[in-house]
Amino acid sequence: MKKLIAVLATLVALTSCALGFAACSSDPRPTLNVYTNAGFAPYEYVNEYGEVVGVDIDIMEEIGEALGYNVVINDIDFGLIMEEVGKNELAVGAAGMTKTDERDEAALASISYAVSVQYVIAPKDSLDDKVVDGKVSLADLAGKKIGVQEATTGDYLVSDEIDENGEIEGTGVLEGTNATKTSYTNAIVASGDIGANIDVVVIDKLPAQSIVSGNANLECYELSEEPEQYVLYFNKNATELVAKVNKVLEKLIENGVIDYFTVKHSGGIVG
Ligand code: GLN
Repeated sequence: MKKLIAVLATLVALTSCALGFAACSSDPRPTLNVYTNAGFAPYEYVNEYGEVVGVDIDIMEEIGEALGYNVVINDIDFGLIMEEVGKNELAVGAAGMTKTDERDEAALASISYAVSVQYVIAPKDSLDDKVVDGKVSLADLAGKKIGVQEATTGDYLVSDEIDENGEIEGTGVLEGTNATKTSYTNAIVASGDIGANIDVVVIDKLPAQSIVSGNANLECYELSEEPEQYVLYFNKNATELVAKVNKVLEKLIENGVIDYFTVKHSGGIVG
């Protein structure tokens, strides 16, 4: 019976296509809408052919293949991803998204598939006197004009230390130092403004290394902060889907496939 229904569904899909219906798709599988922001290499970026590619995209293709979904990639503002995920049961945020308590309240997280840490991108040699064991601390950014990608963990971290939200006075290490925060749509745009309107950019490790590898005037350092876990975020009602996705992710991690995707999209800069 299930087979018959599948055959009928395919026929309906094909007929609608032949008749030229707007929503026609030759793929009879249900669509899994992936929301991402393609300014975050190696996880998602636009390649030379104008396609959105990257580690997260490869992971989602594997998941689609394993679970029978037609994966459709939507490149939107990072700050809008959680909203889209909230609207549709077959939606997923795949954008190097760090697991946070706030996001966990709004959506269902998969298991972690990568670990990252915040980095600071700065003009070459400008932080030389601050670096200890290859790292700098947030307090070392006192008085600096700091660029971030809007609505990211880097954004929240800097806001908290400047005490932008006026939480508890005197608790932010950048409070009262004249440090400022400017938000950008992504870290590539932000980094392009270093030396003009900002001094440094705070963003996740691999995107920072990717940006610096393409610009001889910049360098980047690890910020001594807590590591962050990357997860996929799903609609609150997608419990069964998340359980299935976790099984696929476990296999991809176990078999070294995610490591392989990371190297493949990093052009040798992973480290
Ligand atoms: N990991 C960071 C976050 O989740 C940044 C993600 C991104 O910019 N794509 O907020």
